[in-house]
Amino acid sequence: MIEHPENREEYKGLAVNSGVEQPSSVNPYLKSRRLPKKRSLSVADYVEGILKGDVTVLSRAVTLVESLLPEHQAIAQEVIEKCLPHSGRSMRVGISGVPGAGKSTSIDVFGLHVLKEKGGKLAVLAIDPSSERSKGSILGDKTRMEKLSVHPDAFIRPSPSAGSLGGVARKTRETIVLCEAAGFDKIFVETVGVGQSETAVHSMVDFFLLIQLAGTGDELQGIKRGIMEMADGIIINKADGNNIEKAKLAATQFRNALHLFPARASGWMPRVLTYSGFYNIGVKEIWDMVYEYMAFVKENGYFEHRRNEQSKYWMYETINEHLRDSFYHNPLIEEMLPSWEARVLGGQVTSFAGARKLLDTYFSEIRKQE
Ligand code: GDP
Repeated sequence: MIEHPENREEYKGLAVNSGVEQPSSVNPYLKSRRLPKKRSLSVADYVEGILKGDVTVLSRAVTLVESLLPEHQAIAQEVIEKCLPHSGRSMRVGISGVPGAGKSTSIDVFGLHVLKEKGGKLAVLAIDPSSERSKGSILGDKTRMEKLSVHPDAFIRPSPSAGSLGGVARKTRETIVLCEAAGFDKIFVETVGVGQSETAVHSMVDFFLLIQLAGTGDELQGIKRGIMEMADGIIINKADGNNIEKAKLAATQFRNALHLFPARASGWMPRVLTYSGFYNIGVKEIWDMVYEYMAFVKENGYFEHRRNEQSKYWMYETINEHLRDSFYHNPLIEEMLPSWEARVLGGQVTSFAGARKLLDTYFSEIRKQE
């Protein structure tokens, strides 16, 4: 074998790369077959694609719903309106829990379970209250739900990432309409938070599942009363290995606590179950409970009632959001706000007088524009 010159003693430790031509960062073989530019779709194209169950078109429509551009919003609103008559025929379940509670592990097995038992199609959406700050969301991320993400009947969409919690929640609410029109008859809405995002999810689902963990002995202290009141089912995860007894104890504590709450308008008594998402133990019982609830509230009329209340809620929420946006984005108001805030802080005017002045200015501006 010929000794390579660079291996000689005098070159020891030297790496010589000259003569090695670096390839272009553009793949030359791709040049000839440039990808076609995405064809823009009309409202009719969107609606037709969605009603046919075309997931690519559905994804693009959801992107429009999430877009902040007014022209996108205008198309999105038309598409939603046309899809509305084809929506509503689904089971919507909210799933909440602190980070690490096992939401992704559980949603993966829950999704597979309901698809196997009941067939149909499942959409997993998310509301991430931190997305505004982090400018990206992890909730509902495909990679967190390994098996579901490759299931042909599942559609997973992360949380919309821009805007206030109210805005993010509204977009998810609108995405539900599109998914249902595309034939998704099971909708999971995932969230993580300490109250507000649960309220948002609660206002768009039929059943609210709260995932809890056992272990610290004071699990009831860390959980907000309001969240307990929203839950239709509390499920204690990780009831496996030497955690089973602790999980059972936590379940008893939750059951006792639930008895102290007033009866629900639905007539349903929330249940507490233990399970293991990781080992797939107790999953069937959870979904038997959810289906039992659905049959129960459909029978007694509460299902219809809750959905009507939710539609009303979203109408007022949307009005509030638009009024707030219009006020705070008014150029004159934007200019005046800091100085009036300073005056209130300095004690020169009261909070109420400051608010009055700003509101009066806003309304007279609006009148001028008419
Ligand atoms: P998320 O943050 O709520 O989505 O929680 P993950 O699903 O990512 O789970 C957090 C951690 O808990 C991971 O390391 C999981 O493997 C683990 N985990 C989830 N479910 C179970 C369970 O049923 N039993 C046990 N022992 N561990 C679990």
